Amino acid sequence: MPRSFRVFATCDIGPALEVLRKRGYQLEVYPDPKAPPKSLILEKLRSGVEGLITTLRDPIDAELFEAGKGMLKVVSQLAVGFDNINRADANRYRVPFTNTADVLTEATAEFAFFMLGALARKLWTAEHLTRDNQWGFWHPFLPFLGDEVTGKTIAIIGTGRIGLAMIKKCTGFDMNILCYDPAYQNHEFRKSIQAVMDLRHARGIQKETTWIKYASFEEALAHADFVSVHVPLVRPGESETPTYHLFNERTLGRMKSSAFLVNTSRGPVVDEAALAKALRENWIAGAALDVYEKEPLPADSPLRDPAIEDRCRLFPHFASAGQITRLSADPNQGMAGRCVQGLIDVLEGNYGGDPKKMPYVVNKEAF
Ligand code: NAD
Repeated sequence: MPRSFRVFATCDIGPALEVLRKRGYQLEVYPDPKAPPKSLILEKLRSGVEGLITTLRDPIDAELFEAGKGMLKVVSQLAVGFDNINRADANRYRVPFTNTADVLTEATAEFAFFMLGALARKLWTAEHLTRDNQWGFWHPFLPFLGDEVTGKTIAIIGTGRIGLAMIKKCTGFDMNILCYDPAYQNHEFRKSIQAVMDLRHARGIQKETTWIKYASFEEALAHADFVSVHVPLVRPGESETPTYHLFNERTLGRMKSSAFLVNTSRGPVVDEAALAKALRENWIAGAALDVYEKEPLPADSPLRDPAIEDRCRLFPHFASAGQITRLSADPNQGMAGRCVQGLIDVLEGNYGGDPKKMPYVVNKEAF
């Protein structure tokens, strides 16, 4: 039986927490569905918490690491994105933090694809027409038409785990694919997808030939019918290729007026004021968003403008929100399971106690 470690979870992450209770951990879970105030997390850390389970709603910085100094051994985040955790501060205090990469990849990519479909084929507007009893006749083009996805060109911005999974979904819809990633180009994967495309064509599964290639950002924006964003949030100064406001007035202006933008990455990657303007002035045909500069989306957000309602789909940071993906206690299937396992690895000194060897530790460079 391991030692009875003290753990504070800022959120109930579901049945996977039983794994910790069964191991005899002293686990305290913040009961409210909203995030706890920072003052409470500080209080818990000062009282000697050794493991902290966090979500993307909790800003984790030097003040917290200072409060936990000497006692806090690990921060275990229930998300793949970790832009809420100040990596430099974690490294300075030599506290490993973990994330839940991989297990949410397919769920997030499929949701991005469904958002794209809902946007292009106007599913929300079409259902409203029916529910609101406004469907007065069948007509070839009235009151509106949607745009097909099959055979179109998509730009995948960021070809990491989720971007590559999105490419797989798009391949099934006979799409041409433009890839952009300044740091990681997976040419083996690209070649394999091209081989699948060629085979589908050769066997008559798809009528037209299709292609996949890497391109510059400008080229991808200029030629895509759909642009899907799969980058981490990187603020200016954190990297040579920051993603903060990657989509702004200038870059939105590079897209085709018939093109659609889909963002499941992080809200601040898109300048929302610029996007609202682009939609109002028809620079682009539409946008579907799962993430926002401020979450939950404020009541006075320009994205709620009724004038753009028909071409702006809004979702509640929901892309990874599948039952198994969110809750499974199996670290190979669920975010909760992976989050708990990441915490156990550090506290119980698995992998010889070396954070560098622990698969879910992100900031390996600090050890
Ligand atoms: P990843 O690290 O595997 O891939 C990110 C890719 O973006 C990398 O290849 C990186 O080189 C690339 N990149 C970095 N800067 C770039 C830039 N300026 N332009 C283009 N590409 C750039 O991460 P992942 O697992 O694919 O996740 C991507 C992001 O998706 C996460 O960081 C997270 O913020 C977000 N996410 C959101 C949800 C949701 O529920 N909406 C769910 C999961 C992940």
